[in-house]
Amino acid sequence: MLQFRWYMNYTEERTTAGEYLRLALNYIAKYNLPVNPVNYTVWYEYVSGKNIKLKKAVDHLIENAKPFNNNKVERLYQKYVADGDRIIISRLLTKISLMLKEITNHVLDTEGDLAGHGKNLGDLAVQISEVHDYNEIKVIVDRMIIETKELVHSGKRLQTRMKISSEDLKQLQKELEKSQQEAQTDSLTSLINRRGLEKKLELERIRAKQNDSPFSIIMVDIDHFKRVNDTFGHLVGDSLLRSIAQMLKDHLRRNDIAARYGGEEFLILLPETGIEGAKAVGQKIKNALSTKEWKLKETGETMGKVTVSMGIALYKLNEPEQSLIKRSDDALYMAKNNGRNLIITQEDLLL
Ligand code: GH3
Ligand code: MG
Ligand code: MG
Repeated sequence: MLQFRWYMNYTEERTTAGEYLRLALNYIAKYNLPVNPVNYTVWYEYVSGKNIKLKKAVDHLIENAKPFNNNKVERLYQKYVADGDRIIISRLLTKISLMLKEITNHVLDTEGDLAGHGKNLGDLAVQISEVHDYNEIKVIVDRMIIETKELVHSGKRLQTRMKISSEDLKQLQKELEKSQQEAQTDSLTSLINRRGLEKKLELERIRAKQNDSPFSIIMVDIDHFKRVNDTFGHLVGDSLLRSIAQMLKDHLRRNDIAARYGGEEFLILLPETGIEGAKAVGQKIKNALSTKEWKLKETGETMGKVTVSMGIALYKLNEPEQSLIKRSDDALYMAKNNGRNLIITQEDLLL
């Protein structure tokens, strides 16, 4: 789970904020949920009424007397609140600002080179207020490392006085990388999430162009997954999602990528692979599923077989990501319409 600064992003008057807090905690108590950042954030946003989509979704669940559990709130969070980036970035920026202050405090009253580097660092502090994403933070941290090294270089005395060491900065860099990774990982299955997939697809498109090499994608959707939830409960559904995610990974090569695309949908990215190759991968997965008998962990009760439908598309040089995804989606749709447990390719769409 990501760490959040879970009360710092709201700017309400203190009394209003206190009231929202009280109401949020009431809901958390009412539904017997743990007080954690996700629960807190979802209910806070709900009672404040500012997150309209979230409010609608929660109201709908309440009207239909649906119970809330941790998982459901987590999904609401992912769907309607998760601007995980915004939160992590603000946390990192606070840290960077403090570091910069610390460094610049030491050089303010010096002259020459030192003051010059101090000023450069001061400029970075100004740039921080305009940061939007990880890449921009990275540029600042890289710059900080260079400037700080030069500082230390030009003033040996400073070396002993400065509390911020290059170790701290390295630590910050690591934290940045870790946050970036977390923001691109699906917490249930540990596969990359949609955001992570977008980055990988972008790289793959560049590579396809440079090397004039094909790549394919398989959109995988579990058949009648709703029944699993309805019959065995959401926790079993979650556990099945994790197992299927693992199963997909087990059937892929090292450079292939499996992502959780949505609820019970996965997307497999197959570099240097044409449609026939992708079909073979799909078939392997389908075969593995066809021989697998799923059982409930606790009781050993059988859950029967699970099947998936797949839609395969081959990347056309220079086409936008969405048009590739749409073809695989269309193929998947055809697989569903033709009875499920099928692999359909973009070529089948033309028949
Ligand atoms: P189809 O064969 O047409 O794909 O039927 P389906 O039931 O799989 O598809 P539908 O889209 O109707 O339902 C998907 C279900 O997946 C509904 C939703 O509650 C469930 N789901 C989505 N995300 C999660 C999750 O993270 N955990 C659990 N347990 N269920 C989830
Ligand atoms: Mg689906
Ligand atoms: Mg489905």
